[in-house]
Amino acid sequence: MGKLALPTIQITGGRIIDPAQGLDHVGDLWISRGRILPTGGVNEEAEVVIDARGKIVCPGLIDLHVHLREPGNEEDETIATGAASALAGGVTSVACMPNTIPPIDTQAAAEFVVLQGQRARQANVYPVGAVSKGRKGEELAALGQLVAGGAVAFTDDGAPVANAGLMRRALEYSKMFDLVIMQHCQVPELTVGGVMNEGFESMRLGLGGMPAAAEDIMVARDIRLAEITGGRLHIQHISTARSVELVREGKARGIKVTAEACPHHFSLTDECLRTFDSNFKMNPPLRTAADVEAVIEGLKDGTIEILATDHAPHAREKKMRELDQAPFGIVGLETLIPITVKTLIEPGHLTWPEVIRKLTINPAELLRIPKGTLRPGADADVTVIDASTTWTIDPTQFRSKSRNTPYAGWEVRGRAHTVIVGGEVRYTLGGIVREGVAPAAG
Ligand SMILES: [Zn+2]
Repeated sequence: MGKLALPTIQITGGRIIDPAQGLDHVGDLWISRGRILPTGGVNEEAEVVIDARGKIVCPGLIDLHVHLREPGNEEDETIATGAASALAGGVTSVACMPNTIPPIDTQAAAEFVVLQGQRARQANVYPVGAVSKGRKGEELAALGQLVAGGAVAFTDDGAPVANAGLMRRALEYSKMFDLVIMQHCQVPELTVGGVMNEGFESMRLGLGGMPAAAEDIMVARDIRLAEITGGRLHIQHISTARSVELVREGKARGIKVTAEACPHHFSLTDECLRTFDSNFKMNPPLRTAADVEAVIEGLKDGTIEILATDHAPHAREKKMRELDQAPFGIVGLETLIPITVKTLIEPGHLTWPEVIRKLTINPAELLRIPKGTLRPGADADVTVIDASTTWTIDPTQFRSKSRNTPYAGWEVRGRAHTVIVGGEVRYTLGGIVREGVAPAAG
């Protein structure tokens, strides 16, 4: 199984779920030379057989919101370690944010990310370009050059595009490439000095607050800007009840607006900050139980069509600082599946096919990338999930370079079992890959 001769792979007896084709049945999936084969169209022997009985076989998961920290903060993560962390989480494609040093705001910077991703040979890595030069929010970046360098969307994430005029031009100009503007919605003047959600808990703890209104106001503004420009707007890491409502209304009026939610925003609340543990410090912050409920409601009714992690690794010495000094964010990729199972699937909010849709074809369509389906002929990016296995989240086992997670010690269910990218088995949990072995009967 060399690099040139990709193997013929048979994944046997799994529950094949592909929302893009409306598939949900038990069967075999065949892969040859990096492509998905038509069912029954196989007249060769498999070189690799993967026993997927009792497991879910789905298109490789796509996470359109990750921070890989290279260039500039390689002590936190590199493109290679971040892409390996993705595979361990069952994710075969990531879109990485441009808030690196320097930022991804030129063609060369985007090309660097693509090249490092190819060198790493882990998950596929797609760069997201900055909206503004230097992410300073003053001048539009050279969007056309970023597209030429491989950018699949634009955002100044880490910070919002605060200037409404600039945001309007970005939405207008991005139409030329049919690419989406992703926005970290937050009025910066309202969050200065904020460490956590503003409310009862922040008052009790005496910590600086970030009001929900800071998010709501910018979501409202940007939906209106999407309306007058006809541009495509994507709300990143939505976290407030009012924001969810605004997106719902915007969609109902036919405006091109989409939204993503992150596992920490539907599994944790601002009460977690009572421990003063910086692993609960995020931006946007953990909100109230009512906000969590609204986000889950938005996921259920399709207002929020995408799940993303906002994977934000930070080296230990940075997160160990005082709460108000520590950076925002958590390692997200490797806990995506189990936290989603625990908070969305097990309580009955969403089914597996609904979750998989939000992690495959929906993000693929948003980014206009040819991924997210098991259609015959498609790139063979496949994730096999063991949905029933129970395990304890142990950050020391992470493939990410960083360990900052609020979920350490959680007893959870479900994790990636085998991950295939471009027809190559690139990750397995234990030694389940058998070469040249005949498929088991049954
Ligand atoms: Zn953000």
